[in-house]
Amino acid sequence: MKDYDEIQVTKKVLKSITCNKCGKSKTITDFGFEQDEFHSFNLTFGYESMYDEQRWKFDICESCLVDFVKTFKHAPDVFED
Ligand SMILES: [Zn+2]
Repeated sequence: MKDYDEIQVTKKVLKSITCNKCGKSKTITDFGFEQDEFHSFNLTFGYESMYDEQRWKFDICESCLVDFVKTFKHAPDVFED
């Protein structure tokens, strides 16, 4: 038999997201679909790279991401599930 205590836990809930490039910001509603308009990047640079072992985290809106990808010499592969 197990006996439990009730405790209150504080957790972080996403309330808004902002594009690091253009500054566009969206408030996140209960459904959270607004978050789908942004893409989060978490990069780690390798040992002896120009940014030796730094980690970068940022969020980019779809518009800025598409503008960036359009600068690619080779278009990315596109998949649909
Ligand atoms: Zn943007």
